[in-house]
Amino acid sequence: MKIRLEHNWREFENGLSGRDAKIRYFVKSNSNLAVLALMARLDSGFDIVSGGELERVIRAGGKPDNTIFSGVAKTENEIAHALKSKIFSLNLESPAELKRIHAVAKELDVPAPVSVRVNPDVDAKTHPHISTGLREAKFGVPFEVALELYRFASQQRHLAVKGIAVHIGSQMTSLDPIISALSQVIDFVKQLNRDGINIQHLDVGGGLGVRYKDENPPTIREYCRSILDLLEKRGCNLSISIEPGRAISAHSGVLISRVEYLKATEAKRFAVVDAAMNDLLRPVLFDAWMEIVPVKQKATIEEMLSDVVGPICETGDFLGKDRLLAVESGDLIAVLGAGAYGAVMSSNYNTRPKPAEVLVDSNHFDAIRTRETFDQMVNLEVIPEQIRI
Ligand SMILES: *Cc1c(COP(=O)(O)O)cnc(C)c1O
Repeated sequence: MKIRLEHNWREFENGLSGRDAKIRYFVKSNSNLAVLALMARLDSGFDIVSGGELERVIRAGGKPDNTIFSGVAKTENEIAHALKSKIFSLNLESPAELKRIHAVAKELDVPAPVSVRVNPDVDAKTHPHISTGLREAKFGVPFEVALELYRFASQQRHLAVKGIAVHIGSQMTSLDPIISALSQVIDFVKQLNRDGINIQHLDVGGGLGVRYKDENPPTIREYCRSILDLLEKRGCNLSISIEPGRAISAHSGVLISRVEYLKATEAKRFAVVDAAMNDLLRPVLFDAWMEIVPVKQKATIEEMLSDVVGPICETGDFLGKDRLLAVESGDLIAVLGAGAYGAVMSSNYNTRPKPAEVLVDSNHFDAIRTRETFDQMVNLEVIPEQIRI
């Protein structure tokens, strides 16, 4: 098998070998059932943020008892669903959430496995929308609050303290913030031990960045090595889990689109393509630069500086700006690095069907999401009797 997803996952496996460590693929970056099934076959764990993602993991053959439930807003139903499925841990992010988990666990009369996600107040040095470890972020709780939560949880029959979690952001290209956050967490675990609260598991988060343009993130091996080195140096022998999303999925996928028109105005040249911000939101949402290349290089046409734009009626609808591209109408282009936070963020805006998804294994390929039809797009909509013509 020659699938990039598998290769990337194995880089983590190799990087962590010799340590009691679990890779828990972060489902939100690419949650196609086939992608999850591939991970499940590798015996990967999962990390999820909704009841829907839990259903996906189960449907794909993943194990709930190797799955962590993260996120700031778990509903009662989601908590109950997770507990009944025997989730590995509910990573909680507020005192109110602990209270709710406790109530649901009592009702079901099962002990809820819980970990507290701490917020170490560390700047991940990434885009503000995906930076999660600063005090003003909605994520996690400060160490003082975590201490209170552990004290409470350790005394309840219906709560089982499982571990501690930290995740300070996504698309991180430097190790320093991660190491600084983990260092603080290790200190805190020692403080908890002195308090008689014994933590067995450390969830080191995800967030390792990838290279889209000229970023220089550590490799997966370097990233794993520096985490393991830190744990060793600090005498921390907890079992760990690591929750990569993007580092596994981003460069496992490309978005293919066709050039419909070339359009020149006095100010600019545009390549108008048939993909749009509803298919790939990262460029406009995060101001993200993603590489765009022609699928076939043509030496016969001249490279021209172009904005690559889609059919949606918004000026924000672009995939790339000021790109040197040698393309003509009818050509295919590929947007690289689109495997993470691409399809999962797509919508039907402008009543555009979502694109098909294809899994490529060397020279074999399978459709893993078929093209959406008009009926599928409007199926849930209802015209009430009194306004029907
Ligand atoms: C999104 C998320 C991740 C994965 O982030 P990537 O940048 O895709 O690796 C890990 N942990 C938590 C809590 C997250 O919300």
